[in-house]
Amino acid sequence: TRTPLMAGNWKMNLDHLQAIAFTQKLAWALKDAKHDFDDVEVAIFPPYTDLRSVQTLVDADKLSLSYGAQDVSAHDSGAYTGEISGAFLSALACRYVILGHSERRTLHAETDEVVGSKVKAALKHGLVPVICVGETSEDLEKFGASAVPVAQLKAALEGVEGTPDLVVAYEPVWAIGSGQAATPEQAQTVAKALRDALEELLGESVAAATRILYGGSVKSDNIAGFMREPDVDGALIGGASLKVDEFSAIARFR
Ligand code: 13P
Repeated sequence: TRTPLMAGNWKMNLDHLQAIAFTQKLAWALKDAKHDFDDVEVAIFPPYTDLRSVQTLVDADKLSLSYGAQDVSAHDSGAYTGEISGAFLSALACRYVILGHSERRTLHAETDEVVGSKVKAALKHGLVPVICVGETSEDLEKFGASAVPVAQLKAALEGVEGTPDLVVAYEPVWAIGSGQAATPEQAQTVAKALRDALEELLGESVAAATRILYGGSVKSDNIAGFMREPDVDGALIGGASLKVDEFSAIARFR
């Protein structure tokens, strides 16, 4: 059985002072209703500059909140101006790192190959990669729902061996920030195809243990439908993760 994961991708929102206030409010909201979602993992993905503040809060108050970064360098250290090493993230006790988000792929020209090298860097530094895959609406028309996400996952995992701790996030590009979420059935179809690909690449136990999230216009009023699907194990949430009430209601999806 896989522990549901509700992951909030803040994108480029909230500076470190705002992050401190937000994280405290979120932790209170989660604690208030703890009995409702004891068995749900909640993770936040703030901008890099917030991570030290988040770490300090989580540590000091023993918050049951995971956190991670929105990207990582493929390199360990050296002359890579502007980049952040996985070593720095694990030094801040990040558990996760989001990789291959569609905004990185389109706005920063991240290829499957780049995503693959970042996956290896994350694993090397003890971070759990949250590998994002998803088709555009043109892909959907041309190739159907699963082909592009499955190909992206295979490319991201090329050369990865053993039993890595992974999360996969299926985020159809057309559903991100559009208010038009996929249907639970659509999400399940692709999640199942992704799980089958994991089994083919890394074996049955990794496929069974890996959490597959749905992302794209998730709200408190549509989360329950996704969570009823057998292969959807949580959500990657953008806009709605920036509202304490909305995000904690999503985590309380039952
Ligand atoms: P929205 O939840 O705002 O659609 O964003 C989804 C997303 O891109 C999360 O990574």
